[in-house]
Amino acid sequence: MKADYHIHTQLCGHARGTVDELVASAIEKGFKQVGIADHMPMLYAEDAHLAMTPEQLPGYVEEVLEARERYGGRIKVLLGIEADYHGPTQAERVAMLERFPFDYVIGSVHVLGDWIFDSPLDVDRYDELDLDEFYMEYLGEVRAMVQSGVYDIVGHPDLAKKFDKRPTVDLSPAYRGLLEAMKERGTCYEVNTAGLRWPVKEIYPESAFVRIAAELGVPVTLGSDAHCPEDVGRDFDMALELLEGAGYTEHAVFHGRKMTLVPL
Ligand code: ZN
Ligand code: FE
Ligand code: FE
Ligand code: ZN
Repeated sequence: MKADYHIHTQLCGHARGTVDELVASAIEKGFKQVGIADHMPMLYAEDAHLAMTPEQLPGYVEEVLEARERYGGRIKVLLGIEADYHGPTQAERVAMLERFPFDYVIGSVHVLGDWIFDSPLDVDRYDELDLDEFYMEYLGEVRAMVQSGVYDIVGHPDLAKKFDKRPTVDLSPAYRGLLEAMKERGTCYEVNTAGLRWPVKEIYPESAFVRIAAELGVPVTLGSDAHCPEDVGRDFDMALELLEGAGYTEHAVFHGRKMTLVPL
């Protein structure tokens, strides 16, 4: 079943397209479900180009729920959100998430300490660090995020590779540890095609991750991480190939934070 669960809107300050335009694109491409999952207010940074403000969040929810009503017969519109994980601001984030009727929450690690490591404006910092340590720190943070129990879906699980800065160590043991924690918690991950549009030119997560996930039976959602209407559902043929190659026959869909599995 065609479902794109990771779509941004112009509200975040670095995407193009209204909820209407994004949903229209999904209908045109034959999707049965479309999940809008814009960046939640960051809380650790006040930057108009990273995310909506806390004041804009109720309007976002309103707009998506209104689209759900209006497009009801043609496509199922889900209310998602892409929320960060960041220890010092977690309490405020959790309280904010509880105030709205999200269908699912994507959890994403975009920041380590004070470094937004997936920002193209801050790539110089990769030159100063030990990449092996960076990957292990990143995956450790993702695991802590899973163990917090706040999130339904791990977003772009190997985002650390975005700028094609690669580690020398085999990440498989760390992937396995993370996926076992996810299995225990009932947390999904997403196959996210946006990596194909960044220097790494590869889907998130890499096939080694997907193979271990399939072996452990960890459910998966699909997302384009579109930041414009044209990118909705982009490269889903490659995502399907990756999943089927690893033995997946089903993917996860959500409603009111409850997951069900449907055929791929
Ligand atoms: Zn974004
Ligand atoms: Fe993200
Ligand atoms: Fe995103
Ligand atoms: Zn994202």
